[in-house]
Amino acid sequence: MAPLATSTIGYPRIGGNREIKGVIERYWKKQASQEELLSVANEVQAQAWKDQAGAGVNLVAADGTLYDQMLDTIYMLGIIPKRFQGKAGLDLLFSMARGAEGATALDMSKFMDTNYHYEVPELEPGWTCKPDFSHILDKVLRCQATIGKEKAVPMIMGPVSFVCLAKSLDGQPVAQSVAKLLPAYRELLKQLQGMGVPEVQVHEPYLATTQAEALQKECSQAFQELAAEGVPLNLVVAYDDVGETYPWLVQLPVAVVSLDFLGVPGAAIPNRTLELIAHHGFPAGKVLGAGVIDGRSVWADSGVAPALISALVSLGVAPGSIRVQSSVSLQHLPIDLNKETKIPADLRPRLAFAQQKLGEIIRVAQAPLPAQGTAAAGTPAAAQLVQSVREQHCAKDTGLSVNVDQLNRSEPYTQRRAKQIQLRPFPTTSIGSFPQTPEIRRLRLQNKKGLLSDADYAKMIAGHIGFAIGLQEAMDIDVLVHGEPERTDMVEYFGQELNGMIFTEAGWVQSYGSRYVRPPIICGDVSFVKPITVDEFAIAQSMTSRPVKGMLTGPVTILNWSFPRVDITRKSQAFQLALALRQEVSSLENAGCRVVQVDEPALREGLPLKANRWDGYLSWAVDAFRVTCTTAKPETQVVTHLCYSDFQDIMGAIDRMDADVLTIENSRSDDEMVRALANAKYGRDVGPGVYDVHSPVVPTVAFIKDKIRSFVSTGILGGDTKLIWVNPDCGLKTRGWAETIPSLRNMVQAAREMREEL
Ligand code: GLN
Ligand code: ZN
Repeated sequence: MAPLATSTIGYPRIGGNREIKGVIERYWKKQASQEELLSVANEVQAQAWKDQAGAGVNLVAADGTLYDQMLDTIYMLGIIPKRFQGKAGLDLLFSMARGAEGATALDMSKFMDTNYHYEVPELEPGWTCKPDFSHILDKVLRCQATIGKEKAVPMIMGPVSFVCLAKSLDGQPVAQSVAKLLPAYRELLKQLQGMGVPEVQVHEPYLATTQAEALQKECSQAFQELAAEGVPLNLVVAYDDVGETYPWLVQLPVAVVSLDFLGVPGAAIPNRTLELIAHHGFPAGKVLGAGVIDGRSVWADSGVAPALISALVSLGVAPGSIRVQSSVSLQHLPIDLNKETKIPADLRPRLAFAQQKLGEIIRVAQAPLPAQGTAAAGTPAAAQLVQSVREQHCAKDTGLSVNVDQLNRSEPYTQRRAKQIQLRPFPTTSIGSFPQTPEIRRLRLQNKKGLLSDADYAKMIAGHIGFAIGLQEAMDIDVLVHGEPERTDMVEYFGQELNGMIFTEAGWVQSYGSRYVRPPIICGDVSFVKPITVDEFAIAQSMTSRPVKGMLTGPVTILNWSFPRVDITRKSQAFQLALALRQEVSSLENAGCRVVQVDEPALREGLPLKANRWDGYLSWAVDAFRVTCTTAKPETQVVTHLCYSDFQDIMGAIDRMDADVLTIENSRSDDEMVRALANAKYGRDVGPGVYDVHSPVVPTVAFIKDKIRSFVSTGILGGDTKLIWVNPDCGLKTRGWAETIPSLRNMVQAAREMREEL
């Protein structure tokens, strides 16, 4: 039997040796010319296309970007916010991404439920669309020249997702905005048709969200129009099953429907794509892009992919109309496992990065198939088939149970608060990290290379801690931090000390623009080995009588910023992490720590795309946080910190965290969160950020006083000024001391003046 067709829907864009990062950062520093930048980028893209075609993939997505695919779409459609008008070319592109003199950058937001950030389009009142297709057409031409016309498939962000993921400042309904874009999309399709492309991938990730259920009319209209150009369309909906939209979505006038059969790795509730097909059938005459190779997981396929394909054939989908592909773009994976030299031998065969996933796609396409149509859609036989694949596929709950005592502090906040540190009104603190200076990074590198002994390194780090403590005392800050000079990354630092996690040497994944991260891999049962943060805490606390915060990364954040296991549920992994970190909290307490901060900046971003799964996620995520903290004595103050403060919709969960002090990023949301907390009658200490740490601008005393006044005016905590903390928005590690010192001084001065006004 002929093998099934194969396709890709996106690939790492950063280059095997992070070439794009290197050249872009040099370009920004004016050390590389535009010609050099483009030539490196073209080479990286060509290599990626060659790798995919070379692996044997039939249809290769013409992926590739300097920064972000949404930014490229904004540029291509020419929907340029007024503040950037007058700019052109790369200057325009990078100004929108990074800001320019007098023009703040576009917002950045998490893409779907991944850790990738996209640039948020802005639909200003009266916005217009002045397309420039030169870049995308050039890319498709280069792709055709590299791997052949029959293989090169243009990929574009679809109009519905573009509008729904944009910031709509003009208040127009989705249908109207989409309609405004369609002429540009049609013109593009016409030009691509003229270039002889086999099809065009139209990526509509938004259709995997619950909100898409209300968009049938908008989608029908849009795809009717797009289809009219005659070029075959491949509607790609990744990141989850399409849920309730399935019946109408598969009827849209497209030649190919590409679906995600896997969803989030380690999810307890299985992705429903196979179930939807088993129930409703798949329309004859259309091609099914079967996303069965997990594009979000570094784990090799364990047999689920061929089982899914076999099930599709049994359900009557003709092998000739099935394509094997990844569940989501492979951009979320490191590029090549072969770059790793330190992965344990027994683990290596069980892992697959982007390159290795290509091999899996080909292998699955060649696997033997069962007889077609033995289980008609909608019959009990079909349902049984789904059940048997599901059993193979689903992550198991380890049954790791936590008891009531582990879920609850021994005393409620109202009782325990009085036993904790008592400070003056508007107590001041910071969020944890201080500037990671070139000197600190140099020390770490020298230590890594063996040029600086561990003992000497520790001494140098102690010096930086001492500097931070002295500075904070001199500034009259109330609750001090040690500054985190010993930490590269808030997840890596903990992961390296726990059992059950491994780290890659070159497993870079794009987070945004030129920022790449190396997420750890959870590969076994996570457990506590020995205290992780106690030495640095003890050094800091020994230098001052003021309370120093113990500083931990929470279990949910460690999980959400790692590649999880797929054999056991995320919930089970979160609890394992929580039980390990719980021992760290006890260790800190035993070392005399009176305030422990457990950061959970990634709590919100783990929310599933389907609204009906939120409660399930929040239930175990908050439980994991609680398990970490409840070991604390009533006298110990538990602080948490959340970034991206837009969490009005999960207020119940925030309350259930039961932290004694909640510090939140606030400056970008204009006190909205403080008002929301006040309205919800949130009743524990709150520290809304008084200034934006993402900006090098030093906030004035007056500015910070206005912020504090604004918090008080919300009526939060009944205006109890001892419970309203004054702190920056987030950690300061990306800032320099030159702006950090005056900013913190102004912050303390503002708190002082506010106290005097009481
Ligand atoms: N304690 C961490 C820091 O200050 C918190 C960082 C974060 O929330 N992203 O860097
Ligand atoms: Zn933060």
